[in-house]
Amino acid sequence: MSKELDQYLADNLADLKSRGLYNEIEPLASANGPIITIGQRQLINLSANNYLGLATDSRVVAAAKAGLEKWGAGAGAVRTINGTLQVHLDLEQELAHFKGTEAAIAYQSGFNCNMAAISAVMGKNDVILSDELNHASIIDGCRLSGAKIIRVNHSDMADFRAKAQEVRSSGRYEKAMFITDGVFSMDGDICKLPEIVAIAKEFDLMVYVDDAHGSGVLGHGHGTVKHFGLEKEVEFQIGTLSKAIGVVGGYVAGTQALIDWLKVRSRPFLFSTSMTPADAAAAIQSLQILDQDTRLNDALWENANYFKTQLNQLGFDTGITETPITPVMIGDEQKAQEFSKRLYEEGIYVKSIVFPTVPLGTARVRNMPTAGHTKEMLDQAVAVYERVGREFDLI
Ligand SMILES: *Cc1c(COP(=O)(O)O)cnc(C)c1O
Repeated sequence: MSKELDQYLADNLADLKSRGLYNEIEPLASANGPIITIGQRQLINLSANNYLGLATDSRVVAAAKAGLEKWGAGAGAVRTINGTLQVHLDLEQELAHFKGTEAAIAYQSGFNCNMAAISAVMGKNDVILSDELNHASIIDGCRLSGAKIIRVNHSDMADFRAKAQEVRSSGRYEKAMFITDGVFSMDGDICKLPEIVAIAKEFDLMVYVDDAHGSGVLGHGHGTVKHFGLEKEVEFQIGTLSKAIGVVGGYVAGTQALIDWLKVRSRPFLFSTSMTPADAAAAIQSLQILDQDTRLNDALWENANYFKTQLNQLGFDTGITETPITPVMIGDEQKAQEFSKRLYEEGIYVKSIVFPTVPLGTARVRNMPTAGHTKEMLDQAVAVYERVGREFDLI
């Protein structure tokens, strides 16, 4: 073994631990539903992205089992050799229908989508304007493309407009694109899509919306783009199958020509084995449930609004959220971590989110109420918040 590597790892791990930045991962001894088991303890779970409860929905689990029986455990090859099973095409058709686009392409994860799609279209003569709070996979996807990257202040339309104008008047670039999250995961705010689309039109920019936290949530489940009725104005709609859809995988929805291009040019499609057929079958079932029935989406919003109202009435600051993502703002990093630990001791699982995930001094705990929570669970969580909130002088 390399002594140099040993030393490097030992030094850096010790450094992280000494600064309280080493994340110890606790495994769940149960499914990731509204109640989870960790060790011997049961906790109310307010940390999962399982917005609609579909990860543990019996219909979705049954579809995964049937997919497994019919197609086997693995797809056997990358999509472009012979790892395209009919179930993958069925999923893509379902996704296009769900998003109201001509076509869609499925990937192994949402992270992979951003690795795949940005660099398949953008190159060194092009420019990307990117919201400063965009997800890490967008940042990495942009870097991989080799395009010039210009950060835009978060949801600041004056800054976006000025930078779009500058980019075009410089005459320096060929294609130009604006990339944004649909819903920002740490604050729960929604991108200003109507203004984005108008500015993009004025300066001839493509629009790329990564709607990982919007799909299944906004637009009666169909996502942020549908919420604003702008399906015809957004070139790239990215989504994940791992959050509200409850499985794993990702997709790009757009025109037939875009999807045809991604099928010949995007590297995770060409060089990484396709998602498992059981996952594809489960995702189809989730999408069909969402398409036919808005009850889970209604329950999500009802629970989220109920929970948020209770916290606000107690005097907690839930920031600027417009979606079920419910941060409780704390500020100090250490205090947020201790608060989360106290909630845990009282039976509530809520992760603290600290620098560098959010700016210094804006530490918080982030609650993810879902369709699967009962009023009793939420009431119990609120009662704990009240007690622990007073201990910490937050209310
Ligand atoms: C979660 C997330 C991803 C990653 O999706 P996975 O399917 O978990 O890989 C990508 N983009 C955004 C905006 C996300 O929130």
